Amino acid sequence: MNAMSALLRRAEQIHDLSRDELVCLLSGREYDREIFAAADRVRRKYVGDEVHLRGLIEFSNICRRNCFYCGLRAGNRGLGRYRLTPEEIIGLARKGREYGYRTVVLQSGEDDYYTVAKMCQIIRELKQYGLAVALSIGEKSGADYAAFREAGADRYLLRIETTDRRLYEDLDPGMSHENRKRCLRDLKRLGYEVGCGSLVGLPGQTIASLADDILYFRSLEADMVGIGPFIPHMDTPLKGAQGGDFLLSLKVMALTRLLLPDSNIPATTAMETLRREGRLLALQSGANVVMPNISELQYRRLYALYPGKAGADESPEESRAELCRKLEGMGRTVGKGYGSRQKLYAREKAGRRRPGAARRENS
Ligand code: SAH
Ligand code: SF4
Repeated sequence: MNAMSALLRRAEQIHDLSRDELVCLLSGREYDREIFAAADRVRRKYVGDEVHLRGLIEFSNICRRNCFYCGLRAGNRGLGRYRLTPEEIIGLARKGREYGYRTVVLQSGEDDYYTVAKMCQIIRELKQYGLAVALSIGEKSGADYAAFREAGADRYLLRIETTDRRLYEDLDPGMSHENRKRCLRDLKRLGYEVGCGSLVGLPGQTIASLADDILYFRSLEADMVGIGPFIPHMDTPLKGAQGGDFLLSLKVMALTRLLLPDSNIPATTAMETLRREGRLLALQSGANVVMPNISELQYRRLYALYPGKAGADESPEESRAELCRKLEGMGRTVGKGYGSRQKLYAREKAGRRRPGAARRENS
């Protein structure tokens, strides 16, 4: 066995790689297949064959921020804007529950119309339907996060986007990397299941910084990690950029699975957008979550973070049924529970008995 294969074998067993080792694995192409296969085995061992589906509700495309990479940026004046009323959001979540979703993800631009009181009212209502509630609404104060949690929010998705502070602050004018990290720390402290993640292929991003991203997810003890290629949008300052590479994004994701073996890792829509069946490939390379869109068709076109978003013209019923068929064809099952992170590895590491049937599901 050569040195690289030995390194991978060890990573599969002890879930550790140094920054240099990560850089080495990310740089070449020769070991890609081995990396994807190792991540698939680790996924199977720690989170099993179930794929957890989360119903995504994109409830407002209005954003006060100006991230250079994103089509929803305030500076994009050509985009028709919309926001759903609390009643509409609640109605979509109820439908989602009827389709079989046990988790809904409420995502939007940073839109101040949704005050803390409004969000808390929505969250409380959704908890009545027995849903796990995940929020993805950007940077807020610790007090706001505490209020959402108090109202019943279970999870929060906030990508670090890149751990390269200079790059982050260049691409996200007016935003501070330190504040983003403060948000993630607050969310952890408040007991949320925290989803982090990054964009792959930002202009000026280095392989070493991608290695740092993976190590950051581990130091944060992220419960979920969403990795997606950056896809340039015509109406943004990065319209001429090259954009992310599918296989490199897949590899960052697979290496994340090796280092965070029991985390929940989505097969992201951006991966599906770059490559047909990209989501299925991701599910065979470490991912165990899919987040189908359950928003109304008329709004999906307007929630244009990036162009050509996969699934923009499929109804929620069609896309769910087709996805379930494909998953079964791959020997996977659709998760029936909430699909919260089970922390099997963390417990194993702590030297305690493997919990087996003792499942922690949030109520
Ligand atoms: N406003 C919130 C949530 C919506 S944006 C926030 O920023 O956290 C959700 C994610 O879309 C971002 O975290 C970013 O990683 C991703 N995104 C934005 N523009 C993108 C692009 N051009 N290509 C791929 N992903 C993009
Ligand atoms: Fe707004 Fe999020 Fe897009 Fe940044 S990434 S412009 S915060 S929607």
